[in-house]
Amino acid sequence: ENLIDVSADILLDRKKHLGKSLSLQYKNPLHIVKGANQYLIDAFGRKYLDTVNNVAHVGHENFNVVKAGQHQMALLNTNTRYLHENITTLAKELLETLPKELSVLHFVNSGSEANELAIRMIKACTNSDEIIASEHGYHGNTSGTIHISSYKFDGKGGKGKPKNTHIFPIPDAFRGKFRGENSGENYAQEVQLLIDEIHQQNKKVGGFIIEPIISCGGQVALPSGFLQEAYQKVRKAGGLCVSDEVQTGVGRMGKTFWGFQFHDVVPDIVTIGKPLGNGHPIAAVACTKEVAQKFANGMEFFNTFGGNPVSCAIATEVLREVKREKLQENALKVGDYLKSELQKLSEEFPIIGDVRGQGLFLGIELVDKQLHPLAEKTDYVINRMKYFGILMSSDGPDHNAIKIKPPLTFTIKNAKEVIFYLHKIFSENFMQII
Ligand code: PMP
Repeated sequence: ENLIDVSADILLDRKKHLGKSLSLQYKNPLHIVKGANQYLIDAFGRKYLDTVNNVAHVGHENFNVVKAGQHQMALLNTNTRYLHENITTLAKELLETLPKELSVLHFVNSGSEANELAIRMIKACTNSDEIIASEHGYHGNTSGTIHISSYKFDGKGGKGKPKNTHIFPIPDAFRGKFRGENSGENYAQEVQLLIDEIHQQNKKVGGFIIEPIISCGGQVALPSGFLQEAYQKVRKAGGLCVSDEVQTGVGRMGKTFWGFQFHDVVPDIVTIGKPLGNGHPIAAVACTKEVAQKFANGMEFFNTFGGNPVSCAIATEVLREVKREKLQENALKVGDYLKSELQKLSEEFPIIGDVRGQGLFLGIELVDKQLHPLAEKTDYVINRMKYFGILMSSDGPDHNAIKIKPPLTFTIKNAKEVIFYLHKIFSENFMQII
């Protein structure tokens, strides 16, 4: 009786009881019942290799993380108004991974909440809510974060750019406004134009926010020099710089623990989400002492669930697991291998126009010979890979970027499997371009 497939019933119940704007992956959605490291298992016992889930950072259902959560859950869960060492232990271990300038933390429950708090900090510090952000950037689902997310307000159902948001062209060296390795300076100049525009309106610059690799925008790696120059210009105008590390943080980049470190800058505010709880909702905002002091203007910051002992036990164990299992080093080793194999694939199949990213945060873009995006073929690859038991995702404004951001337990053997099937699929008739 247990073997009866309930997927159809779940689908009907979702239709009946859940909001229509919730989406499902794949035409025939998967019914996943179990996770184990870099694998997901469906209701029929079929095992899938997961290259999508950068939330299950140290592996789906990681034993030590689950144990830490279970133990604390059985002992005590309260809010932050009681003393508890779990929050201070986590704070110390998280701050150890950050530059010394970033010395104060606030814990929240999601990436959206973290960015929402960053926006509040910007307003508290600069008395301005003029925010500069990237085209196709995504920073969260709350009304404040939607207002700085061009991915949403410029997309389906979006209401367009709010007056106090200032959007520069996505710094995409492959198909963006300026192209090539040396385009960083040109894109930074676009940030300067926005600063000038804000000043012309007799307003002050509040802040600047960007991901070190723009994920929803299609895994767009920032051209070198861009972030340093943009930070300089924003700071000169009195604004604060925020690095959204919700996707890129906690060792995923391989070479560096945080994405901004790859660009040799130190932000005023860093927002941390997804990987910190390995699937449990905990997120954080790290900021400088000066920002924290100005934010503490007398109004209490209270967050019912943020920083509770269970969440903190879990996040501490995630950080320890990254260290213990050398997962940052693994991201570098496996990521570099995968990237070089993808590059070889792109030489054989010119439909792969660009291979980019760092560590286990990679992207490839499918285009024709005139660099037009190939969304249908991208979708085909994703669905064919599912057929071979490998989960992949696609994104970007033209739906032609394939994203690879697996749990950091991903192995060389897993990478070889991905390459083997990609090679097979790119050899198929439908994938040929003229
Ligand atoms: N920032 C970035 C860069 C994200 O990718 C996301 C989620 N995709 C968020 C913020 C929002 O995080 P959450 O969904 O946890 O609220």
